[in-house]
Amino acid sequence: MIPTVRFAPSPTGFLHIGNLRPALFNWLYARRYGGRFLLRFDDTDTQRSKPEYAEAILQDLRWIGIAADWVERQSDRLAQYDAAADSLRASGVLYPCWETPEELERRRKRQMARGLPPIYGREALRLTEAERAAHEADGRRPHWRFRLPNFTDDPARPERTELHWDDLVRGRQTVDLGSLSDPVLVREDGSYLYTLTSVVDDGAFGITHVIRGDDHVTNTGVQIAIFEALGLPVPVFGHHNLITTIDGEGLSKRTGALSLRALRQDGYEPMAVASLATLVGLPGAIEALPDLDALAARVDLTEGGSSASKFDPAELDRLNADLVHAMPYAAAAERLRAIRVPDAEAEAFWLAVRGNCTRVADAALWRDVVYGAVPPTAPASEDAVFLGSAAALLPPAPWDGATWKAWTGKVKELTGRKGRALFMPLRLALTGLDHGPEMSELLPLIGRDRAGARLTAAAARQEG
Ligand code: GLU
Repeated sequence: MIPTVRFAPSPTGFLHIGNLRPALFNWLYARRYGGRFLLRFDDTDTQRSKPEYAEAILQDLRWIGIAADWVERQSDRLAQYDAAADSLRASGVLYPCWETPEELERRRKRQMARGLPPIYGREALRLTEAERAAHEADGRRPHWRFRLPNFTDDPARPERTELHWDDLVRGRQTVDLGSLSDPVLVREDGSYLYTLTSVVDDGAFGITHVIRGDDHVTNTGVQIAIFEALGLPVPVFGHHNLITTIDGEGLSKRTGALSLRALRQDGYEPMAVASLATLVGLPGAIEALPDLDALAARVDLTEGGSSASKFDPAELDRLNADLVHAMPYAAAAERLRAIRVPDAEAEAFWLAVRGNCTRVADAALWRDVVYGAVPPTAPASEDAVFLGSAAALLPPAPWDGATWKAWTGKVKELTGRKGRALFMPLRLALTGLDHGPEMSELLPLIGRDRAGARLTAAAARQEG
């Protein structure tokens, strides 16, 4: 059987790095095992779901490199949910309830005051025909609950009923259906809850593996019962841990800074984001992998992931820097053009500066250093004459990677300086900075005219 997985976001906001985690785990699983990947928009909440968010999710996934084999929208599938609800009603496991939220709240409080678990007492199941008829005559529509299979003969007496599954990530799991309220599957206005629609769709689309966050573990107990009530094959489940902030708080769609859009705008590489979203909290080092195939080969969900997965912005910078330091020119070319690095020298420029960039956009600083006005530094008094002599010794063009060594060799011979005393004043005068890329690579880019002018200006600044 071909493994079939799905990522099922609600289009109610922008994806953040935490939502990306299940998207990637599913995608990587499909990649690793030659499976299919469905993108399903859980958009039955018509108030909060927006087509622009669905579009944004598609774009953000594309940026990461995830392309769905096919896309479904729950809002297109209401007839299927109607049919499933009818079949559950026909078998008597979906029953109407008329309690108001206030009434339910009062009951919950009473139960808690008496030290009882605040679970729904199935009062609606004990309504007489006459009471039901009276509610119907009132014109108020019921909401519908699914009767969990947690009793022997009398639904009013739920018992401990263990439901088990072998979780792909967490190993054997147990949920006690006797400790849960019958879930509402249909609201008073006739709309469906995710608990039902997800099961219907997972069944209809032949989903073999449901990989999602561990906030859904209890849902899984309930949903397995619904799969069984609908006569659908139960998929394999895998629940991964969730990414939190560094303080251990959950991420939400409101965590704007960690949205994929914001990270993209801030110039992070998609593979830095994807590597971190996946590898944080898994066994093994967090490293930036070059592409999704390498990530798929690396991630084995069965290795589990129970250690905390805290998002550390410094880690993202580290992974990004690793990718940028090794990035071939072709991958950076377009962005270098956008910051107006001269085309003819762009490759040499990139190879010279990439080791000093955390993000590709940092190249703009080095573009200024090479081609722009160097921030004036005042050399120490003993350096002024030295810089003047160094300027006079600049060799004629053309320059290449050997020029720096040849030139500083001559300067050394003439002035007797060596080491830091030789190199640092030259670097400062030529770049305005005391650190940066190899001077042997920068010097030919700075070129003879600029280099001469900078050295003379620096010498003059001290003398003047
Ligand atoms: N729409 C659900 C969510 O975003 C999907 C959960 C699932 O994968 O079943 O939480």
